[in-house]
Amino acid sequence: MAYVKFWGVRGSIPTPGPSTSRYGGNTPCVELNYGGDNFFILDAGSGIRELGQHLMKLGKPVKSHIFISHMHWDHIQGIPFFVPAYIPGNQFIFHGAQEADLSLEDILADQMNPVNFPVQITEMSSKFEFEPMYEGEYKFEGIKVEAMYLNHPGYALGYKFYIKDKKVVYISDNEPYPVHPEATQDSDNLEQTVFVEDSNQRLINFTKDVDVLIHDAQYTPDEYKTKIQWGHSPYDYTVKVALGAKVKTLILFHHDPLHDDEFVDSIVEAAKKISWQAGSNMRIMGAEEGMEIPLD
Ligand SMILES: [Zn+2]
Ligand SMILES: [Zn+2]
Repeated sequence: MAYVKFWGVRGSIPTPGPSTSRYGGNTPCVELNYGGDNFFILDAGSGIRELGQHLMKLGKPVKSHIFISHMHWDHIQGIPFFVPAYIPGNQFIFHGAQEADLSLEDILADQMNPVNFPVQITEMSSKFEFEPMYEGEYKFEGIKVEAMYLNHPGYALGYKFYIKDKKVVYISDNEPYPVHPEATQDSDNLEQTVFVEDSNQRLINFTKDVDVLIHDAQYTPDEYKTKIQWGHSPYDYTVKVALGAKVKTLILFHHDPLHDDEFVDSIVEAAKKISWQAGSNMRIMGAEEGMEIPLD
């Protein structure tokens, strides 16, 4: 059996409390099981702590690849609290985009420097490996994985996984590429206009016909107007990409810390309405902690 399971779905900062208890307050962490006890981990936000507790209860040795979308705190802050990483014999291979002058290992180690945390990454007793990724095609444990750069501050990657006959795409933090309609009137800017439109089309191509698309839908269209270049999507854009790509199941992800459960409900409903009005029967859900989607 293969499945996707959500351990953290909240963007930016953990938001515990009664108003967010249904969707959940932990920052991003998704388990992608590809059969038996084999699984990848997508992002290491505070949700990875719960996943760690679950793995400790199972009591088996753990080997997993951890795909980090990018190095913002909400995607790495759970690592120091991931108990299986302290167990000798366990093995974790970190993947992600590194900055031009900072290696993947340096970035992950730095959040645990002695000023910020009492235990250093080198003191965690499991085996760590660091394999930077770039846009392109890879194979890990026999699974084909494709990576694509996203529109988010710094270097951020979206990942596509080929699990048996299913395709799963994980795009945690991403923003629409700007399109300047007025520039089409101006031949000087024509090249740039074509480029940005191509970039949105590139995203649609990357997500073409996927079974499960997990994508940033942090804002309403109104909120987005004042948050351009913050690196997140209004839900209408996310739905448009998914409709363009003929995605089967769309999971709205990276909920805003200001949005309580009722507000996220309203975003999910509004997203469904856009899809329904376009004549699509795409399944749309808001990512919820503990939610599991079977892949076979
Ligand atoms: Zn984030
Ligand atoms: Zn981010």
